[in-house]
Amino acid sequence: MTFTLDVKEQLLRVNTSRRCCRETEFLAFLRMCGNVSLAAGGRPGLLAVTGSAGVARRYFKLVKEVWGLHAEILVRDSRHFKKNRIYTLRIPPQEEVREVLARLAKIPDGNPWNAGQDVGRMTRLDDVFSGECCKRAYLRGAFLGGGFVSDPNRSYHLELVCQDIYQAHFLAALGAEYGLNLKPAERKGRFLVYCKGAEEICDFLNVIGAHGALLDMENVRVIKDTANNINRVINCDTANTDKAVEAAQRQLAAINRLAQAGRLQKLSPVLRETAALRAENPELPLAELAELFDKPVSKAGLYHRLQKLERLAAELEG
Ligand SMILES: [Zn+2]
Repeated sequence: MTFTLDVKEQLLRVNTSRRCCRETEFLAFLRMCGNVSLAAGGRPGLLAVTGSAGVARRYFKLVKEVWGLHAEILVRDSRHFKKNRIYTLRIPPQEEVREVLARLAKIPDGNPWNAGQDVGRMTRLDDVFSGECCKRAYLRGAFLGGGFVSDPNRSYHLELVCQDIYQAHFLAALGAEYGLNLKPAERKGRFLVYCKGAEEICDFLNVIGAHGALLDMENVRVIKDTANNINRVINCDTANTDKAVEAAQRQLAAINRLAQAGRLQKLSPVLRETAALRAENPELPLAELAELFDKPVSKAGLYHRLQKLERLAAELEG
């Protein structure tokens, strides 16, 4: 599974019981990857395409429960990637779709189905959404509809592919409310917003509630950092190879082994924090390292935690 699909599957676990958020999330999804179809007589229908079965099911259920719409999911194999499947959520033409379109019309993100909308004028975002919860829901729906995030082992890149530049600007403005730096861009006729850098991507995932994916990202960062830090410690002052430095090197190597085996996120929160703080501060003496913890820990307590990490890493070898 790609990292993108992985993040999307994790987002499906985000609990959205509030009707306002469920509506908003679906409207954003629709805005990213949906289309309106008109039947004879002018009754509107909707079509949205996604690569995730879970996402298709989520909205299939939602439109039924929230708007009482009749819908179906069509499956076909992707022409480009043989292993992948494409899921189309089809909402056949029916009068009730007008209600969805009316809700969509209240979001001034430049949606083309909204005749007469003044796309140049940005309304205050607080007037658009019924609450803070819905702003996050909109970003989440946008990611589920048009989001892509690269495997952090290879590069740090996240983007949301939009249907037009208005929505790209709308997403950028919405993201800015959370301090996110989403940049609108046009590439080969495609409109998108994107961000780069581990920290910015982690911030975005955090805002939309993808906490599992966040852990994976952090995990990769720890691996990369420890590899750098081990070199730094080894290179630093070779004359000063006293016991503390040797111990720190052993601890870092252990953390690195645990990270590579994918074991870090399975550790208890306390051990995970210990591993992260040691990886970030390879040269710090125990007493100073102990002071960095959220919950205070004694020097001896910290020593035991680090020994535990070394033992767990040694068990991997055995
Ligand atoms: Zn809400």
